[in-house]
Amino acid sequence: MVEFEEEKEIFLEHIRKSGLRRTGQRDLILEIFLKTEEHLTSEDLYWLVQKEDPSVGHTTVYRTLKLLTEAGLAREVRFGDNKTYYEHHYDHEHHDHLICTSCGKVVEFFSQQIEELQDSIAEQHGFKLSHHSLRMWGLCEMCSKSEADVSSVPPGAQPRVRVKTVIGGY
Ligand SMILES: [Zn+2]
Ligand SMILES: [Zn+2]
Ligand SMILES: [Zn+2]
Repeated sequence: MVEFEEEKEIFLEHIRKSGLRRTGQRDLILEIFLKTEEHLTSEDLYWLVQKEDPSVGHTTVYRTLKLLTEAGLAREVRFGDNKTYYEHHYDHEHHDHLICTSCGKVVEFFSQQIEELQDSIAEQHGFKLSHHSLRMWGLCEMCSKSEADVSSVPPGAQPRVRVKTVIGGY
């Protein structure tokens, strides 16, 4: 299996440096994380891992995600629902996010114009930027359509985040 060879090498190196042992459970968690092109909470990842190996505990998944983040393979993102999501970081282009406040759909986008505008604003204020995170909230196309149809969403309905993301270039 040569898939994700580089990522696995990076993870093993990080594990070694941290004085930890390589375990089958950590390998499995890494594998499933890398295979899933979504924004995941540790809870989401836990359920995916459960399907493969029910003996893996939630704490192991959580700690492994932290290790992946330290190793630069994962990145934490927040979408304003008080949860921490993780996405692939290694070898992934910078992007920003559009978030649907109704269904939780997340769309990734990149705009050279916005990036340049941010740089010039920082420069005007004498800031040297290290990083930024641009998030825009609103209703996705589907939700704004169905809201026009009926306004019958039960109160307190939790937004679900379980949608494939799409990278759009502008
Ligand atoms: Zn950006
Ligand atoms: Zn939506
Ligand atoms: Zn993303």
